[in-house]
Amino acid sequence: MDDAPENLSALRSMMVQQGYQTFVANNGERALKIARRVHPDLILLDVIMPGMDGLETCRQLKNHASTQRIPVIFMSAKTDTEDVVAGFDIGAVDYISKPLRMAEVCARVRTQLQIRSRSETQEEQAERLRAIVNSMAEGLLIIEADGRIQYANPACVNYLGYSEQELAGRNIAELLNPMVAQEYLDYFRRYAAEPESAHSHGTREVIIRHRNGSSVCMDLTLTPMVLRQPLFVGLLHDITHHKQSEDALQRAAMIDPLTKIANRRHFDSFIEKEWQRAMRSGLPLSLVVLDVDHFKLYNDTLGHPAGDACLQQVAQAIAAHALRQTDLAARYGGEEFVLLFAETDGATALQLAEAIRARIEGLQIPHPRSGTSPWLTVSIGVATTYPRHLDSIESLFVAADRAMYAAKEQGRNQVQATQCGSSSAMDAIKALVMR
Ligand code: GH3
Ligand code: MG
Ligand code: MG
Repeated sequence: MDDAPENLSALRSMMVQQGYQTFVANNGERALKIARRVHPDLILLDVIMPGMDGLETCRQLKNHASTQRIPVIFMSAKTDTEDVVAGFDIGAVDYISKPLRMAEVCARVRTQLQIRSRSETQEEQAERLRAIVNSMAEGLLIIEADGRIQYANPACVNYLGYSEQELAGRNIAELLNPMVAQEYLDYFRRYAAEPESAHSHGTREVIIRHRNGSSVCMDLTLTPMVLRQPLFVGLLHDITHHKQSEDALQRAAMIDPLTKIANRRHFDSFIEKEWQRAMRSGLPLSLVVLDVDHFKLYNDTLGHPAGDACLQQVAQAIAAHALRQTDLAARYGGEEFVLLFAETDGATALQLAEAIRARIEGLQIPHPRSGTSPWLTVSIGVATTYPRHLDSIESLFVAADRAMYAAKEQGRNQVQATQCGSSSAMDAIKALVMR
């Protein structure tokens, strides 16, 4: 815009010739109005005008959010250094002296438009990157060679409970367990010393300390990048839900589907561990084997589904007696159950077994054709041992089974106990008497 009509028309026809869409204003107020309405790519502004002068017009353009980014070029006959500097100070991008040489104006306009379109695409790119990083579900960390976190995106904040500010500047090692942390720090150092040897550290499962003290299970992928200094991009991916379903699967593999108590596999690994522990502690281990009496007859009489329901009741009654961390009740197969009582001597185990027997009889599950009792009953064998290196779990099972069969033979619905794994003469005699 310009207040001299001949300048204006010459400028305008040149702009039109160059293919620019042009808007003309002959005073500052109009120029501001047009600028706010059409958001031009560039404004050519005369400095000396009646009313609001060019400097004031520019100031107002720069003060208004919708126009402050439009580049302004001053045109003026005032070409003293301080005038030119004042123009730049107010925010102009260029200052053209009058009288105008149209080819020069043209070149300056073209240059400014090029700069503007370049910086716009840069801004757009930066904006797009920011949007991606801010909205991605993965945590993104930029880590320096000494392990210091330079940047963390909002997903990290979400995952770890720290604010972006709290994360930036913190060392990644503080969030990891010491051994893993040391491994990462070594990797950073190696790469920083020899950037050419850079390789991705790949993805590994890490436990990260949440701000609230809990642990979160994450996949962490680390990749080196060079950006003036050696840096690492860390991608964090929450795998808690995978872990949970993995845990659920693992739990499912340990449970008997019908009775919902431990299955044979679980029991076998449990007894193995307790056996080792008992060997170290020197404390006794008692194994209880239970078998439902006349169960074939029960099924034949009342049907297989009734048999299933009955096994569930029996299982619950047995499991209710495995109360300590070191006790475990399991369905070992068919209508046979087992119980392990660690740190439990024979007398105590016998008492517990007797309580279970009474409890099951007390359920008063009708067994019309049983010759033993009107109710469903179990026969129980108990074997106790002080595990030593030459003994085997197998022998403990054999002894408990034997005791259980003895209970069957002697009329069912009863408990028989035996001490095994000991070579003392007394025990041998006891075992003989049992049979
Ligand atoms: P005993 O008093 O000598 O133990 O006689 P029993 O009939 O209980 O012994 P046997 O081993 O001959 O029969 C076990 C029965 O248990 C046979 C089988 O049909 C039944 N059984 C095994 N598993 C299941 C099950 O999952 N559900 C049902 N309903 N019955 C089962
Ligand atoms: Mg059986
Ligand atoms: Mg049976």
